[in-house]
Amino acid sequence: MVSDRIQKLVDHFGDRAILDDATLEEYSHDYTEVLDVVPDAVIYAESVEDVQYVVRFANEYNVGVTPVSGRTNGGGLAVPYRGGVILDLSRMNKIHVIDEDKRYCVVEPGVTYGKLLEELERRGLCVSIPRSPVSKASVIGNLLITGYGHMAAKTGFQSDLVTGLEVVLGSGECVKLGSASLTKSWMSRQPLPDLCGLVLGWGGATGIVTKAGISIFKKPEYSDLVCFGAKGKFDRSLFQLLMRLLDLDMIDELTCCTWGHPYLDIELCDPERRDTAPDMFFNLRLSATTKSMIDCKVNAVIDHIKMEHDRNKSIDLIDLSKEQKESFATIPLPESKRIATLAEEKALGVTNPTAILPLVNMIDILPKVEVVLQRYGIPLMFFLNTFKGSRLCSFMVHILFDKEGGIITSLLKEIVETFIESEGVTWKAPPSIWALEQKHMDGGALQTVAKIKQLLDPKGIMHPGQLNLPPTARC
Ligand SMILES: Cc1cc2nc3c(=O)[nH]c(=O)nc-3n(C[C@H](O)[C@H](O)[C@H](O)COP(=O)(O)OP(=O)(O)OC[C@H]3O[C@@H](n4cnc5c(N)ncnc54)[C@H](O)[C@@H]3O)c2cc1C
Repeated sequence: MVSDRIQKLVDHFGDRAILDDATLEEYSHDYTEVLDVVPDAVIYAESVEDVQYVVRFANEYNVGVTPVSGRTNGGGLAVPYRGGVILDLSRMNKIHVIDEDKRYCVVEPGVTYGKLLEELERRGLCVSIPRSPVSKASVIGNLLITGYGHMAAKTGFQSDLVTGLEVVLGSGECVKLGSASLTKSWMSRQPLPDLCGLVLGWGGATGIVTKAGISIFKKPEYSDLVCFGAKGKFDRSLFQLLMRLLDLDMIDELTCCTWGHPYLDIELCDPERRDTAPDMFFNLRLSATTKSMIDCKVNAVIDHIKMEHDRNKSIDLIDLSKEQKESFATIPLPESKRIATLAEEKALGVTNPTAILPLVNMIDILPKVEVVLQRYGIPLMFFLNTFKGSRLCSFMVHILFDKEGGIITSLLKEIVETFIESEGVTWKAPPSIWALEQKHMDGGALQTVAKIKQLLDPKGIMHPGQLNLPPTARC
């Protein structure tokens, strides 16, 4: 039975307000440990005015609003934790600007990577692309969760590429942030203090982004992959090799993945998995504007790996067949349904607790995480990548778990504690993990988060529960 206040909203939006059980159920959950919560309604916005209408209505009638774009985050971030309405932005899918000279574009929240890439490729341009299903994953959702793309070792977090935002704040006002607040250009986050930080990484808890400017690049004429594998542990020599490779300052993307991780269909390399197959698989993406430049980069990287191989026989360059290489090198990656399929086949949940930490600390953190997982009978599977030529990496632990088993809460708690011990901070964390982390956080920082939230969303209607602040920090 729908309440009177929700009925009012439904009356306004007509067939763009959905109440049927199957749709509500679909928006109530994802594959993670986050508990299902059925929304009261799903509203499809088609304009900034629609977004403002919903936010103003929510303020007046005290209804929670959870914004979603492509709902592919896979981290429990788009669930309406405290009920209320889902505001689905996927129909706001216009590309407003592709400025080839100034190298930025301006998109709405429903613009997927697939759609943007099609337009960019026609112009010989590109953007940093996540491994997501690009027909659904939105550019704005990815920027907001500070994601990573295939150029991360060169360009940093996806949120680093934002050049301006248009946001409907929790109060209902629509504001422009960055150079677009002053000129017609969306080129930069200047001139004011960087106000984009009031929205990026907040998971919709302060406002709804209705447009974003993002840096775009010339599509490289040449690109190549160098892959190598390693047996055994992620040891000091491997780490040193990665440091040396990063110091070459030539790499667009550096990833490391354990065998069996669904992000890279690693089995493609060796479907039978021979005994000699590596336990870890390293993948370096290189690009250049001329053939001689790409050859030079590839040779430099291979020389370094060979040198390390001479010292440490557990490191090996891997020969890939042409098809295998193409399937890894092609960007966007072919749409992979493996995460969902694995989970569905086995009726399991999937969660990916992730730490951002110094690469050097991987030597310390890996055995500790492995010990924790072993206690729960779960094999270690992880995916690692580096950012902006720096010594910072993300370490994503992939866990398939039994939704009925009840162990996941304590397992995640132990993993987050291990992250923090090794100087890791969580990335793209759902509220339960963020709450664990808050226990270790500086009180002043938490109070500041609470004050900003109060200022931008005075009635607390924006994605309620997302920040999971402790009562003392609620202002
Ligand atoms: C197989 C697979 C591979 C993936 N690989 C990667 C990867 O390599 N790198 C990576 O970064 N991610 C990856 N992802 C995660 C995800 O696909 C991307 O980050 C995606 O771009 C997120 O966009 P979305 O539209 O799906 O966001 P959603 O899931 O819709 O939303 C993400 C968060 O942002 C909020 N939000 C959404 N839109 C708005 C808005 N307009 N205003 C305010 N808040 C909003 C939501 O409430 C939620 O908190 C992967 C996911 C899958 C399933």
